[in-house]
Amino acid sequence: AKTFEVEKIREDFPILKREVNGYPLVYFDNAATAQTPKQVMDVIVDYYSNYNANIHRGVHSLSQEATDKYEQARIKIQKHFNAEKAHEIIFTSGTTHGINLVANGFSSMLKEGDEILVSAMEHHSNIVPWQMLCERTGAVLKVIPMDLNGELIYAEFEKLLNSRTKLVFLNHVSNALGTVNPIKNIIDKAHEYGAAVLIDGAQAAPHIKADVQELDVDFYVVSAHKMCGPTGVGVLYGKEEWLEKLPPYQGGGEMIATVSFEKTTYAGLPHKFEAGTPNICGGIAFGAAIDYMNEIGFDAIAKYEHELLEYATAKLKEIDGMQIYGEAPEKTSVISFNIEGLHPYDIGTLVDKMGIAVRTGHHCAQPIMDFFKIPGTVRASFSFYNTFHEIDLFIDAVKKAKMMLQ
Ligand code: PMP
Repeated sequence: AKTFEVEKIREDFPILKREVNGYPLVYFDNAATAQTPKQVMDVIVDYYSNYNANIHRGVHSLSQEATDKYEQARIKIQKHFNAEKAHEIIFTSGTTHGINLVANGFSSMLKEGDEILVSAMEHHSNIVPWQMLCERTGAVLKVIPMDLNGELIYAEFEKLLNSRTKLVFLNHVSNALGTVNPIKNIIDKAHEYGAAVLIDGAQAAPHIKADVQELDVDFYVVSAHKMCGPTGVGVLYGKEEWLEKLPPYQGGGEMIATVSFEKTTYAGLPHKFEAGTPNICGGIAFGAAIDYMNEIGFDAIAKYEHELLEYATAKLKEIDGMQIYGEAPEKTSVISFNIEGLHPYDIGTLVDKMGIAVRTGHHCAQPIMDFFKIPGTVRASFSFYNTFHEIDLFIDAVKKAKMMLQ
């Protein structure tokens, strides 16, 4: 098998050469935002240097070029997620926007007493919009519990399903724990009860290539910035039949067929959901980021990242008082941990002084922290451009921080 050429890959990421606090940067906050390769930056510079224009409206050449590139990006994203139709891909500003778009659309379709299931390991962006939806409609939010390993309890999920269940929402991968959820089983089971399923793919998309047709998922949402693309752009995949049924989320330009003060008719898909001038450059750059990741290959990425995960997990466990949260057999390259007696924030601050970027806190998943009865964790998340050497530096830094704090 071909060896993973990480040093060559690192050449694509200028930021990895910088120093932080006098130390070489070790960037282990990839689950929050991944870094951007120069291939994607080149596309951004090319856009603003050569064909920056508004799309869809203009007859002029630049507008045409921008429109073509934007629509080509949509098709790249469609192919990547294996959506049947390009207009099932809606550009959004990110995962949060995609979820809110769907939650808002369901306002008119739910009634009092209907039930919505979410998992116990959701990001706040996959909790709060549903709570707001419940407030608007009188529907009831129910929670699929998890166990101490950080895995959903499938039998409890089955028990919660009934004829009132209208929607099921969960993440493909937990951002705080890295658990890969058995979404195919969950989707199939929910469909037996006629419930629609939305999968938050924000944390899965950088590691796993989801096939929305094979999954038979109703909605799948992602953010570009977790996949080597820019911030402020993402997509919502929705099955055509659902997107046809949902009302538009925002009104404005681009999303209409005709407007008069008496009545407005909406444009077809995908434009119905794309009011206003979108992040044109961002969408095009998202397409380039997907090309970049596919060039390396998702199988190769997953294999290499898994090796990093195993290596780092074993090394961390050698440290006294180490507690790792979330040890599902299937997980992505995320490690959430605490050291007995120490506050995660203090560890994060001290390792930053040594050039190491990790996230500390509740990771926008307070219910998970409540479940484990902790204020937060230190989270190290690895990407395919990280190295074993960086993990060694990180382990040394954690050990030093521990010594300083005890
Ligand atoms: N869901 C999950 C699982 C996430 O990890 C994140 C980002 N931390 C989001 C949703 C929100 O993504 P964004 O901020 O890009 O909208």
